[in-house]
Amino acid sequence: MSRIAYVNGQYVRHADAAVHVEDRGYQFADGVYEVCEIWKGKIVDMPRHLDRLNRSLSELRIDWPMARSAVEFVLRQVIRRNRVRDGLVYIQVTRGVSRRDHYFPPEDVAPSIVVTARATSPDAARKQAEQGISVFSYPENRWPRVDIKTIALLPNVLAKQNAKEQGGKEAWYLDADGFVTEGGSTNAWIVTKEGVLVTRPAESGILRGITRAVVLDLVQKEGLTFEERPFTLEEAFGAKEAFVTAASTLVMPVTRVDDKIIGNGHPGSVATRLRDLFHTATDLKAV
Ligand code: PLP
Repeated sequence: MSRIAYVNGQYVRHADAAVHVEDRGYQFADGVYEVCEIWKGKIVDMPRHLDRLNRSLSELRIDWPMARSAVEFVLRQVIRRNRVRDGLVYIQVTRGVSRRDHYFPPEDVAPSIVVTARATSPDAARKQAEQGISVFSYPENRWPRVDIKTIALLPNVLAKQNAKEQGGKEAWYLDADGFVTEGGSTNAWIVTKEGVLVTRPAESGILRGITRAVVLDLVQKEGLTFEERPFTLEEAFGAKEAFVTAASTLVMPVTRVDDKIIGNGHPGSVATRLRDLFHTATDLKAV
């Protein structure tokens, strides 16, 4: 079965799926996106992801390409047509197709929408989580509006590639004061020697991760102690545990930061437990 994508009103073969050369996403990265996990045939936290999409769109003054209920329908269709049981569904909305010009296009130009879905391997993810990942710090060089989930990800691409070339999986951005902001595509967490979970507040410097929010709910339900405050790289080096969160990784233990081993070098018990419990705290919608 060939893969299917949704592009501006049509379900097309993934291999043939294309946008116009003057799509503003292609030319200006003038668009936003969301990624939801698909778990055991259910869409994870779709309402929260679409709420964030709504916020990203309104911050950039891009209209919804169609009613929210229609977007939900398309997400389900694309997941079904690709027969994805465990994987990710991706939605991208741009300001549309118009002659290249920095100013917003005329009012009658409709936003573009693309939806794709693909399977991922729960087995491979589990093995990765049992091993943990290495992260490498990288100077924060993004624009201040990282709260908007835009498709302008070049700094994230470069930071993650830098990590990869050193044998790591993720980058941790470091701001000018030595504080970790977040990962290239994840939010960053530590567990202190005293067992306190620490993650940066979502008010500045990070994307307000949906997985981060679910984990915060879970942490409170479990009665764990947590603090939403910035932490430095030095503090991370001395932490008992570290981990990252995202819809694409869920709770992923970090066992090394730069050249420092975290804790005993193995995934920590807090991160592992939060990973195991993760889906008990999520909203699951049928495909
Ligand atoms: N931070 C950044 C920069 C991201 O790109 C992402 C996800 O793509 C996240 C955090 C995690 O967000 P979520 O948990 O909503 O996937």
